[in-house]
Amino acid sequence: MPIYEYECGKCGGRVEALIRTEKDVPRKCGKCGGKLVKTLSGFSVSMASSGPKHEPSAACASCPSSGCPHSHR
Ligand SMILES: [Zn+2]
Repeated sequence: MPIYEYECGKCGGRVEALIRTEKDVPRKCGKCGGKLVKTLSGFSVSMASSGPKHEPSAACASCPSSGCPHSHR
């Protein structure tokens, strides 16, 4: 299941949310009511749990997560 991490643009607080439907997307920070922005770190977590499609290695440390040229599939 996709778990996304959101960061508050106002206080910098982080919120992790399990997104099953559009309604699960958090809109506001629980502390200050600021706007939440999805962070990329949450995306990589969901990638890691989805299977061994892209196993990170030393050679991949500098690869962008969306376009690894090493093609681990
Ligand atoms: Zn906040």
